[in-house]
Amino acid sequence: VGEAVFLQFENMIAFPFLFHVMTTKKGFPHPRKEVDRLKALLGIDRLYLPSQVHGSHWVLVDGEMEEAPVADALLVSVPEVCVGVLVADCVPLLVVDPHKRGLAVIHAGWRGILASIHTKVIQAMHEVFGSRVSDLVAGVGPAIGECCFEVGEDVAQLFYEMGGERHVKSKRAKFFIDLRGIIMEEWKAMGMREEHIEVSRECTFCRPDLFPSFRREREQAGRCLFLAGWKKTGRVLRENGIGFTIDR
Ligand SMILES: [Zn+2]
Repeated sequence: VGEAVFLQFENMIAFPFLFHVMTTKKGFPHPRKEVDRLKALLGIDRLYLPSQVHGSHWVLVDGEMEEAPVADALLVSVPEVCVGVLVADCVPLLVVDPHKRGLAVIHAGWRGILASIHTKVIQAMHEVFGSRVSDLVAGVGPAIGECCFEVGEDVAQLFYEMGGERHVKSKRAKFFIDLRGIIMEEWKAMGMREEHIEVSRECTFCRPDLFPSFRREREQAGRCLFLAGWKKTGRVLRENGIGFTIDR
């Protein structure tokens, strides 16, 4: 009891001005209600969360914002402004341009992936920040894995139309989708470099100790809050002395 567990991407820790963290059940099982405590603990002033609708719409956050924008991805480049998304089985994505100092956090559920949110945001980063796709560094976070993400034939058919049989695995008349594999494949096809993409192997359904899972817990499911932003100073989470566990 007591100690909060936060997750980070290994490939992001090295960027000194980047701040990113994903909450877990340990410490913050219901981050939507615990935002103030989380911000105080992490030393965050401004944090913006969108009103998520499983779509493919993104919004650029450039400072003050009155209401939560309806979107499933937020982009930011101004310092001291964090953006975040809430997930429970859906895939949290972080895409960083270390040269232009722009980033995006994305809530990518199966509907959003079918609507190509993961590729639309890459295009947006090119337009908004002037990012070169080959410069982008990305993290694909914990999410429901192919082991557990069984879908009906109707949903399987949609993914089949999107990418063919490599997107759908069928076992004894059951259909399974590897959401993270699809994102990875389509990002590589856009010109992102495989060595720039870190993919978590954690399945949220298989790890009830750490992650809420909508599939497993339905309406009772909490969320993980995945947030990122740029700091004016090069503070790194590991060095701030609060004693977080980085469980990777
Ligand atoms: Zn699983």
